[in-house]
Order: sequence, then structure tokens, then C-alpha cells
Amino acid sequence: MRLYPAILGIAVSAALLVPPGSATAEPAEPPHPAVRDFGNGPERNEVAAGVAEGQQAQKLRLAPEAEPYGLSRDRGYPRRTQLPIPAENPADASIKLGLVPYHGIAPKLNDLQRRSDRVSAEIIGRTHQGRDLYLVTLTAPESRGQAAEQSVIRDRIENDPAGAARDRRLAARYKAPIFVNANIHGNEWEGTDAALRTIEELATSTDPQVADLMKRTRLYFNITANPDGRVNGVRQNGAGFDMNRDFVTASQPEVRAMRQVMIDTQPVAMIDLHGYVNGTLIEPTTPPHGANYEYDVFIRNTYANGLGMEAAVNGLGYTPAKDGVEPVQIPFRDSAEGWDDWPPIFTPQYAPFHGTVAAHTVEIPLRVNNADYNLPVEELRRRSAINTDVAAAAIRATYGFVQSKHDALIADQIEVFRRGAAGEPSKVVPLGIVPGFGPEDVYNTTFPRAYVITGQRSATAAARLVDHLIANDVRVERATRPFRLNGKTYPAGSYVVDMRQPKRGLANVMLEPGEDISPRVDAMYDISGWSHGLLWGATVDSIPSGPLHVSSEPVKAAAPTGSVPRTPGPLALKVTDAKEVQALNDLLTQGVAVTWTNDGRAIVPAAARQAAATVSDRYGVAFTPAGPATGTPLAPVRIAAAASADELFTLREMGFTVTPVSTAVLNAGFDWSGADVLYVSSGLSYAALNPAARTALDAFLATGGVITRGGTGAAFNATAGLLTATAVAGRGDANGVVRVTSSAGPVGGGSPEHSFVYSPRWFTALGAEVTVEQSYATDGPLVSGHWRPNAADGIGGPDAARGQAAVVSGRDERGAAVVLFGTEPMFRNHPKGLFPQVARALYWSAAVTGATVTAP
Ligand SMILES: [Zn+2]
Repeated sequence: MRLYPAILGIAVSAALLVPPGSATAEPAEPPHPAVRDFGNGPERNEVAAGVAEGQQAQKLRLAPEAEPYGLSRDRGYPRRTQLPIPAENPADASIKLGLVPYHGIAPKLNDLQRRSDRVSAEIIGRTHQGRDLYLVTLTAPESRGQAAEQSVIRDRIENDPAGAARDRRLAARYKAPIFVNANIHGNEWEGTDAALRTIEELATSTDPQVADLMKRTRLYFNITANPDGRVNGVRQNGAGFDMNRDFVTASQPEVRAMRQVMIDTQPVAMIDLHGYVNGTLIEPTTPPHGANYEYDVFIRNTYANGLGMEAAVNGLGYTPAKDGVEPVQIPFRDSAEGWDDWPPIFTPQYAPFHGTVAAHTVEIPLRVNNADYNLPVEELRRRSAINTDVAAAAIRATYGFVQSKHDALIADQIEVFRRGAAGEPSKVVPLGIVPGFGPEDVYNTTFPRAYVITGQRSATAAARLVDHLIANDVRVERATRPFRLNGKTYPAGSYVVDMRQPKRGLANVMLEPGEDISPRVDAMYDISGWSHGLLWGATVDSIPSGPLHVSSEPVKAAAPTGSVPRTPGPLALKVTDAKEVQALNDLLTQGVAVTWTNDGRAIVPAAARQAAATVSDRYGVAFTPAGPATGTPLAPVRIAAAASADELFTLREMGFTVTPVSTAVLNAGFDWSGADVLYVSSGLSYAALNPAARTALDAFLATGGVITRGGTGAAFNATAGLLTATAVAGRGDANGVVRVTSSAGPVGGGSPEHSFVYSPRWFTALGAEVTVEQSYATDGPLVSGHWRPNAADGIGGPDAARGQAAVVSGRDERGAAVVLFGTEPMFRNHPKGLFPQVARALYWSAAVTGATVTAP
């Protein structure tokens, strides 16, 4: 789906390490944003993911994820791709609603391409379960030369915005790009059907207005962003991920495809079609607003198009009395809080960093998913038909908006990039710029002059972060000589992100520590803290100001980081990064006689030097001379996991063998002989086990290890009688980046100075057998995010967590080596720098109990 060698490595290795069977079906819907119940609902990660383990779709995966795809820059239009037609699937969940099933999309697009020279379909990627993703471009025919000219103008807008702003002829020659993203949540179906209807209408229309639209715009439709979820009738993709939370991480291939579309097409306007909120909900949002946007430009256009969509939807004539359809609501205008645009994890909150100046979530009105999916077919089809009309009206209003404001929107996109490239200060939006824009809406930031990324802590992690930035179209330079900045000397090879660049907002939103938003708002929509700078394991320094005298060259991909010392003898691999975990698991799988030391190192015998060299190259990891160090023999660690989908994904990505379990699976009789360590965070209750299951588990605990996380994990620890520790729950909706201090213990040693929490926990009343691996800092501990004491009793806030144990380890009476996490180190596959903590817990637990060593 793209031509970035930098991210190719990441994507391919991830694909190879995720076995085909990792597809999961989500048994329950997470709290819907519109009816959020944080604080009194379950923890966000408490939905067991692994139990229904991919019955339907695991065989669909045809080949390792076939990245890269890409949109050709200078092929003309139409492109008339003959799309391969998937096998008919009578179980497709769309069929009951009278909507187009996934297998019906390709034939329809092939037919439309035959009938109209305005329609081009291309495959832009493949889903977790192996389905093709379709992008349709709708525009008047273009010769090769005309298409190339559009690319040149688009490049100029991004890379020479000051020049583009002065060019009075540019807008007249440029086709304004519009992006319609449909069905990112698989069981919010009708955006797809509305997109197909719109394409057909515009493709076959003889209206001169439409001809004008085709000449002056390109409309891009991601027909279904989530084919796996569409077919399976679930919100998530085949890996169990909510992809509308994944844009800062891009862990899923569908999200990487959407990201590349936004980079390649640079839309001035976009809408992301969701359901179901009655009346139809159309952004812009409530506060807090992301501080890294050019918000004056954004709110003016987004509010204007929001009002236009409102008029179009209300104009359909559906009524509460006759149809059960309520009038449109616009959160910015109609609500005080609760629908914010703070984290750029959502499509419309990510797109503005690529120049989109009007971006919207649209929630169509009538619920047809979850419990409502069981309504009579006739009623479902009535609802879906209305929903399709509403989504089509939103699309129609948006292209009409772009058609009428064509030159102004292009000028505004240029202005966004111009401010970034010029390094202008964050602009304070004037009050009243749109009706109702008050002091509560004003969010600003101070952009640093630059960031410096080094391998001081982990060269592997620095390379990963650099490749991620480049994949997001952020410019990175590599120093060709040592340099001095802000009182510190940096070696040649250090990476520099000059913040005077068109996409500085995206660079900053990833690299900055973030902000503690707790005092400013009562309720947040989703996460409030993230930071690639603090959580991805690299050393990232912010350079506040001053001249930037660095000899450097642009980077297309991070430099290789793997190495093996020339000196003979055994080798050591310190496990401080997920790539090192992958390398170690690879060696273990090959049968290399590795030992594990209590300071978090794997020792590889001299005889396995060739295997070490191979994995060093494959994963970019550095071995050092082991000297006389020895450790406990280690074999591949096999995990029985009662865990959420993101945890299963992350454990497998690191190369562990994972068998999903649950209360039901254990009660049905589980063979523990294939497991070394039990991981518990979701879907397993010791108290709910039947006597036989409990006996079998108790026997396992005499030799196996246990890792737990969160409330379910803490309850398991208490009821199974493992470690002596009292788990204290912080506020349920609290989340963000926290400062921590770590011991030199087997899990804490080598950890970053920050961690991530969601529904944080800490451990008190520790028994003599318990070691504190990591504590919440006495300073803070919240760095960025939202964490208040409970409204009802005033406890559970960050003050109460200060200095408390966040991660503990110990051996229980039966011999089980146990680690309890009160943090959330694998959250949505995001905090890459924290994954190795979990891996070290697993290796330690397996090694000290001798679980992985075959009896001599
Ligand atoms: Zn949705």
C-alpha cells in the first residue's frame, strides 16, 4: 500500500509474527462513546478477547500482508482496475440489513468502472484477515500529464507553502481532494452503502453541476475501512482492534492504509461515517481541543460544513413522530463536554495534520447493531435505509461545501503548512471566530525548536520511532557530525526533528510529553495521555529554542542497529526493547541453549554465534560480550492468556506462543502441560472455577508462573491466594502517562522512567515474599492525561498513588513465580517501550520456576 522502505520492515516482521489464528471475535461491545459510562462501567480492557478465537476467518489470510501498496502519482484517470471478486459469503452480517455484503462490493465497482469514465477503483491494502481494501477515486478523466500536474501542485502545497500561497493561479488548476471514510467500525455499516450510492449517482449524472464537480475535485472513497468487522458484524477488525483508536500507533494494516491515503491525497475535507446516535451527530467537537492544530482555520471550516450537513440531513424530512429520527446535533454547539478532539487517535482528529481543514465524525441515527441486530428484518431494513439516506446527505453536503469554497479551502490548507514551515507560534484563536467559541475552547501550545532522538537508552527503540515518524510523513534528519544543543553534546548519527516543517503539529503531538488535562475538563471521550517521546523507549530531548546548527542529511529510513561483537565467547542480549524480545524468542524457537540472568539478560553460547548474527540483523538488536555471566536455562515460554485482544496481539507480535483461556475454557477441562505461564487480565475468575478446574490450576501453580494485570488480575491473585498484597483501585476512567521509579529487579530493571495507566492500581500491605519492581513517583505521578479523585468519595486520585507499588513480584507458597501489574504496559499496542517489562516478567517467571526446562 505504499513505498516506504522504512515501514516495510516493521510491517512485514509484525505480519510474520502474528499467526493466522490470531483473529478474534469480540463477544461484547465496548461502551459506545455516546453513552460512555467511565467510572461506573467495566475497565476498558476487561473484555476477554481470546476465547472465541477466530473460527470463521482465520483461513482467509492468503499470504503475509502484502504491503506495500500505494496510489500511483502519475497514472491518469480512469484507472479501471479489474478487482478480484471474493467468494460469496452467505454469513456476511450486512445481508440481514439489506446492505451490500463485502463480496458484493468488488462486482459493483467493476461494473461502475465499465459504465463510467469517472470511476477508478484501486486496492490500497489488505485487512488482518486478508480481505482487500478498496479506494475509489471519482473525478473527470485525466491524462497521465494532467495527473502528474496534480501531484506536483499537491507537493508544492506541502513543501513550498509560502510559494504556493503567492501563486494566484494555483487553486484554479488544482482539483480539491475530498476523503470519505466509511465503516471503520464494522457494525456501523451504512456509510459503505451511501458511498456506493453516491459514486453511482455522480458517475452517471448528466447534470452540469456534477460535471463541474468532477472537473474541480477528486473524491476519494474508502468504501469499507473494516471489511473484517463488516462481515463479522463487530466493531473491531479481525485482530480485535478498534481502528478508530489506532492512528497514533498504526498497529493495524487497515489503519496504515488509511494513513497512506491521507498522506498521498492530502484532502482539504473529510468525513468519517459512523453510527449510531439519534439525532445524527455531526462534529465539530466539544473542548478540550487538541493544541497542535491550526484551530482557527479548522473550526471555521469544520463548523461551516457541519451546519451544511445538518441542513442536508434535516432536509431529508424524517421526523421523530413518523420515523423515530431526531434532529441533528452538533457537539460544539449543543453540548458542553464529553465529545472532545484531544487525542489524535480518531480519523478526523488525525487528518488535520495532513492538511484537512474540515474533518468530521458523523454518527448516523438509527441503531441496528448489537442487541438491535435481533430486531425483525423488516424494521432493521427500514432503519438501514434511513441511515443510508442520512450518510448520503452528509457526503452530498460535504462535496457541495468543497465545490462552493474550493479556492478558500485550498488556501487554508496552504496556510496550515505555511505556519508550520515558518515555525510561527501557535496562534491563539480569537473568541467568537464562530458563534459560541469561548475561552473554554482555547487551547494552545509552545512548539519547541527541535527534538533530538538518540539511541542513548536503546538504539533499536530510536530507530523504531524514527521509522514511525517517517511513515507519518514527518521529516527527520540524521546528524553527520557531533553537535551541541541546549548544553548537551550529541554524537553523529543522532536524529533531529526540525520543528520548522509543514507537519510540525503531527511531530509535536507524538513527541511531546502531553498535558495533564484533569483540571480543565470533567469528562473525556477516550484516552487523554499518550507520548511516543516518553513511552516508546527512545531517548527524546526537546530543544526549546535557539539556532539549530547541525550538519545533517534527510532520512528515508533509520540506520541499521544490529551488531555482534568480534570478540569470541558467549554473547549477551539485554532485553530492554520488544525487538530484543523478538530476537530472543526467535533463538529459543530455533532451540538455542539460552540462559536467563536475573538482571534481564539472555546469554547465548559462543557456539550459537551464527544464529545470533542472523537475529541481530533481522531485528536490529545489539549483542555484547557476556563475559563470565551465566543464568538459568530458558526454553520457549508458552503462555495461557486470559487477556484482551490488544494484549494477545502484542504478546504474539513479540513472538510468544499464546493459548487464549477463560473461566469457561478452564471449566471445560484444560490441558496445562502446554503452558509455562498464565497471564490474567480479563475473562478469568478463580472463584468461578469448578472444583476440577481449580485442582488442575493449583497443580499447575506448583511449577508454573502467573502474570496479572488490572482489576481482574488483582482479584485472581487474591482469590487464588498467590502473593500477599492488597490491590487499591484508582479512579476507573483515569488514564495517561505516569512517572515511575524502578528497582533493579528482574522486571523493573531497565524500565523507562515513565509508564502508562488506565484504571490504575497499586499494591499495599505487601508480604515478606513480595519485591517492589516499580513504584509511582512521589513527584506527580501523572505527567499527561486525565486523573482525578473519585467524585463520590474523593479518593483514588493521583495523590493517593504517590510512591505506591505499581508492579510487584514474588514467589507464592506453592512455588509459582508471580508478577502483578497495576499499570497497563501493552495498552492498544501503543507503549512500545513498556512491552519488554512484560517479556521480562514472563522470562523470569518461567526461568525461576524451571517451568520451561525439560527434565534431564
Ligand atoms: Zn463508530
